[in-house]
Amino acid sequence: MNLMMQIKTYVLVANLLICMTITAQDLTFEEYNPKSTLVVPGGIVKKAKFPFIDVHGHQYRMPEQDLTPVITTMDTLNMGIMVNLSGRSGAELQKSVKNITDHYPNRFVVFANINFNGVGEDGWAKKTADQLAEDVKNGARGLKIYKSLGMRNTDSDGKRIPIDDARLNPIWAKCGELRIPVLIHAADPKSFWDEFDGDNERWLELKTHPRRKRNAKNPVPWEQIITEQHNMFKKHPNTQFINAHMGWYANNLGKLGQLMDEMPNMNVEIGAIIAELGRQPRFAKAFFDKYQDRILFGKDSWKPEEFPTYFRILETADEYFPYHKKYHAFWAMYGLDLSDDILKKVYYKNALRLIPGLDKSLFPN
Ligand SMILES: [Zn+2]
Repeated sequence: MNLMMQIKTYVLVANLLICMTITAQDLTFEEYNPKSTLVVPGGIVKKAKFPFIDVHGHQYRMPEQDLTPVITTMDTLNMGIMVNLSGRSGAELQKSVKNITDHYPNRFVVFANINFNGVGEDGWAKKTADQLAEDVKNGARGLKIYKSLGMRNTDSDGKRIPIDDARLNPIWAKCGELRIPVLIHAADPKSFWDEFDGDNERWLELKTHPRRKRNAKNPVPWEQIITEQHNMFKKHPNTQFINAHMGWYANNLGKLGQLMDEMPNMNVEIGAIIAELGRQPRFAKAFFDKYQDRILFGKDSWKPEEFPTYFRILETADEYFPYHKKYHAFWAMYGLDLSDDILKKVYYKNALRLIPGLDKSLFPN
């Protein structure tokens, strides 16, 4: 190589280095996603150790959809039964139930939904409770309440309907009478109501999903919606409730434990908050130990590739492994290493007890 060529090569390499340095200097928080150099035992868990029931599923096109691809994926995950919470009501619900009975009678169930339009009009509660009884006769196994109650749903005067509104009492009482559980999602993570700044743990989620940000009183403070939900649970001790997303207290299991003690009819489901459990493996394991009869497996959105994170957190003692969504958790996960006895309860025994008419033969004793 002559001198000229050596100089040219040198300049080229130098330019390249400057270029790389600038790019690295400009990395954003989202782009900074380092590959862990930690070498520890363990690995991805693609299939649950026991067949399980997902009590928080959504299949929005169930009245007409081909269920076979869903079943194929459920089998790879070891999901025995999916509870489709988007069962709707009336003729649509009947169509979903028919689709299930015609094709996979023991692998899916639906929960009914109700329409809050008309609260405040004469006869709303009776009409709605009657419809619910009809839906249950037609095959619904529970009632799902969306977070719109307490947030967006308004009565005939245009006022927000609080979750503990006395006009809704006949519905909750009816569920107790019909012996069906109510799975209810209230509010959202508290951080959505908090100041949007560098102290907010959900900063990245609010940055990437700006519509989730609310001001402190929109439509009311977070605490108010949550308190309304608890009031309603307390007023209906004969009805079993499944509080979705651990009632947004997975980041404060001490408090959640107090609430569990106060409200024996409140059960919880772990959808979308598994990253909270995976950052406190010892305290979470103790919580599962204490409340093992009232915790259910749920996932929410149907993204099959996200289930392995749940299995690995619940089943293994693995350390410092990644979560699947940085905007929920920029921290690493640790496994809870639950015993087989507790796993079976969380995966299916508690659901078999709370939800009527599930096929027990799909699950080991
Ligand atoms: Zn949901």
